Amino acid sequence: MNPAQQEPLEELPYPSRDRSWIEINFENLIHNARVLQDAMPSGCCLMAVVKANGYGHGAIEISRCLNNAGVTAFAVATLEEGIQLRQAGIQGLILVLGYTPINKASLLHRYRLTQTLIDDEYARALDKQGFPLSVHIKIDTGMHRLGISWDHPNQAISLFSLKNLSICGIYTHLAAADSLSLSDIAFTKEQIRRFYILTGEIQNSGIPLPKLHIQSSYGLLNYPYLHCDYVRAGIALYGVSSAVPSSTLLKLDLRPVLVLKSRVILLRNVRSGESVGYSRAFVAARDSRIAILPLGYADGLPRSYGDGAGMVEIKGQNFPIVGRICMDQLAVDVTTGPQIALGDVATILSERPESLLSASLVAAKAGTISNELLSRLGKRLPVLESSL
Ligand SMILES: *Cc1c(COP(=O)(O)O)cnc(C)c1O
Repeated sequence: MNPAQQEPLEELPYPSRDRSWIEINFENLIHNARVLQDAMPSGCCLMAVVKANGYGHGAIEISRCLNNAGVTAFAVATLEEGIQLRQAGIQGLILVLGYTPINKASLLHRYRLTQTLIDDEYARALDKQGFPLSVHIKIDTGMHRLGISWDHPNQAISLFSLKNLSICGIYTHLAAADSLSLSDIAFTKEQIRRFYILTGEIQNSGIPLPKLHIQSSYGLLNYPYLHCDYVRAGIALYGVSSAVPSSTLLKLDLRPVLVLKSRVILLRNVRSGESVGYSRAFVAARDSRIAILPLGYADGLPRSYGDGAGMVEIKGQNFPIVGRICMDQLAVDVTTGPQIALGDVATILSERPESLLSASLVAAKAGTISNELLSRLGKRLPVLESSL
């Protein structure tokens, strides 16, 4: 017998709030979905982007909540992410934004997933697999990542005659929609112009247009007037901005959905001149009280957030993270401020948008954007519903 089978999974103590954990505020999620939907022109629908485990929030929980609230379009990055959603009972459109191997066409069909056609050759190969599939054509209007080039309308038009592929949508992706610099605005407007030139050519050839979509979160926030059938919103749905400072044309009341917490598992006194952690990177300048939290970079908190860059909140006060963030632990200097006790809860990512611990500020201090920070939160963190 395989020794791994001897201990049933049920014996695991998760999910619990003993170590470090994520709390999800589903009310804020539904609020954000409504606010985004209301900001769209009539006839346009929210497509909830739940790739990368719902940006670390738990793709199944997020999608179920949104599905129950009336959202009927979802986007994922991979086939496996799409299958997971279907197996969890998610209804409606599930668009795979990324590449799916051609030989997995039967799974796309079985799970009623809509595949992105990443170029002309890919489309023809997928068609040859012989499974009737719903697809969206991706158009490259300047991002130069995936898609058929906007100035090859005949390539796009010819895909409509493929036998097994039912073309339900055409979309493009904006490369710099988050920026309000004049040159980026000009570039974005050119991308939009190119997209509509292509869709115009398709229409002129006598083909009725399928669903169209261009914008992701910042596309909506900075170009809200576009008339499309969908907006593919990811980061805005989770209520955070990608980077700081973030000025957008639309200023919506979006509320963070995720909170990251941990617990003080050990308190120790360290004498002035003693070091804490790897490489002796932190040396106490005075007799200090240090709290150890069981949270590290393997949980997704970037190592670059250590060494004084970051902080955590305990009992309403912010304390600096000192020394290197380890794989599974970090140290906090709690010498000043209220008495900290074993078991006290520490907040690492806060739900308060104005907090210094908002995802975008934490990400900035760690040298990244909140999209990366959130999507890398580790599998080791249980995802729980926030206890209100
Ligand atoms: C990830 C992704 C999105 C969502 O982007 P956000 O900026 O998080 O809203 C939209 N479209 C495509 C093609 C993507 O890959």
